[in-house]
Amino acid sequence: MSTEPWDVVTIGGGAAGTFASIIAGEARPGLRVTILEATGQPLTKVRISGGGRCNVTHREFDPAVLVQAYPRGHRELRGPFSRFQPSDMIEWLKQHRVYTHTEDDGRVFPVGDESMTIVNCFRDTLSKLQIRTNIRTGISRIEPSGGIWLVHDNNGQILQARRIILATGGSPQGHKLAAGAGHSIISPVPSLFTVNIKDPLLEGLAGLSFPNIRLSWKGPESSYSQTGPALITHWGLSGPAMLKLSAWAARDLANSSYQGTLNLAFVPDLQKEEILHTLGDIIRSATTRKIPNADVPWVPKRLWERLCTIKGCADLRCCDLNKGQIQSLAEALFATELPFDGKSNNKEEFVTAGGVPLREVNMKTMESRIAPGLHFAGEVLDIDGITGGYNFQNAWTTGYLAGTAIADSAT
Ligand SMILES: Cc1cc2nc3c(=O)[nH]c(=O)nc-3n(C[C@H](O)[C@H](O)[C@H](O)COP(=O)(O)OP(=O)(O)OC[C@H]3O[C@@H](n4cnc5c(N)ncnc54)[C@H](O)[C@@H]3O)c2cc1C
Repeated sequence: MSTEPWDVVTIGGGAAGTFASIIAGEARPGLRVTILEATGQPLTKVRISGGGRCNVTHREFDPAVLVQAYPRGHRELRGPFSRFQPSDMIEWLKQHRVYTHTEDDGRVFPVGDESMTIVNCFRDTLSKLQIRTNIRTGISRIEPSGGIWLVHDNNGQILQARRIILATGGSPQGHKLAAGAGHSIISPVPSLFTVNIKDPLLEGLAGLSFPNIRLSWKGPESSYSQTGPALITHWGLSGPAMLKLSAWAARDLANSSYQGTLNLAFVPDLQKEEILHTLGDIIRSATTRKIPNADVPWVPKRLWERLCTIKGCADLRCCDLNKGQIQSLAEALFATELPFDGKSNNKEEFVTAGGVPLREVNMKTMESRIAPGLHFAGEVLDIDGITGGYNFQNAWTTGYLAGTAIADSAT
């Protein structure tokens, strides 16, 4: 056991732990910081994030609006975002020669669309600050002892630390460490996933996308509704509307064993009567064309053909359709029910909801209210965002607050 305690031992060399350590080192040069990482490769998720492009944050600079992207943490993040928010991260990256660009939907990526740009920036900055990431160093236990912390790793080594930053992401091992220090843990459940649907409506239509659709689900606790783009996959439904729904309903869906019925509104902006009226006009003006060939603007042609087949009118000419058949098609566009059973991982991004309850943490310093000297950053906390760069922003903001508070308190 080394006799000189580290000023900071960061457990977890992911996004939050690395950034928190850098911020502490930059704010207080000479601070003795070390990072302990269980796997053989730090920053793995940054590397693979956003399909290898790293959606590093989201261009939303109003903290009051930004917090609305966090199903868990929206109330508590209001203060932290007023201290370090996406514009601050973009500026921090710029100061470290990483330039970013913003896509139309607000997602921010490094110029060049290479996640390695971010990884290399962090790696170089750590090296300048002489902060080492020790790989294959999984931590099994932490314990306070005479004003410092003892950090036990899986190799039998013990480190002494004045302060700990626990940044272990959604890993159960990290939750165990927090629980060992006296914290309660909100049971983790996955967020940002797609649901599995086997239904004749979607069969063979993988790849079809909708620019704007409303998905609703009535869970045992609450009802959920999200509007946005969606995509038919080989397994069911994906895309931003689905992922947002899975985030807001994460716990209710877990409690329902990922079984239920989704309601799809293909024309979210119109009432049923308006759809019926417009569809009637379209069908009347198409006269002798077969109904699948009518110019229905709201859904991809192949889905419209499928709806006509399911409604048993695919072989009819528009002029032969009766009032009831037109009504039935309008109703399907207004609201179609699809049963789902099970979930699949979204390859682009997934996160864990649950973790250390925020009421047990000082959200100005990210220090534990239960175990002084223990700080938290990132996904280990009961915070998660919808897809679009919000989850990394949580890592940067909570990492910044933890790193700054530790630097401020160091003598
Ligand atoms: C495939 C994928 C793509 C994603 N893409 C995006 C994206 O584009 N934009 C976005 O905003 N979010 C994205 N996310 C989410 C984002 O990656 C996470 O929210 C973020 O990485 C959380 O940071 P973290 O540091 O808290 O946790 P992590 O990045 O998970 O880091 C935790 C680290 O702690 C280590 N660790 C765990 N237990 C121990 C222990 N006992 N001892 C030592 N080390 C330990 C782990 O090995 C890991 O390296 C993506 C997630 C996935 C899975």
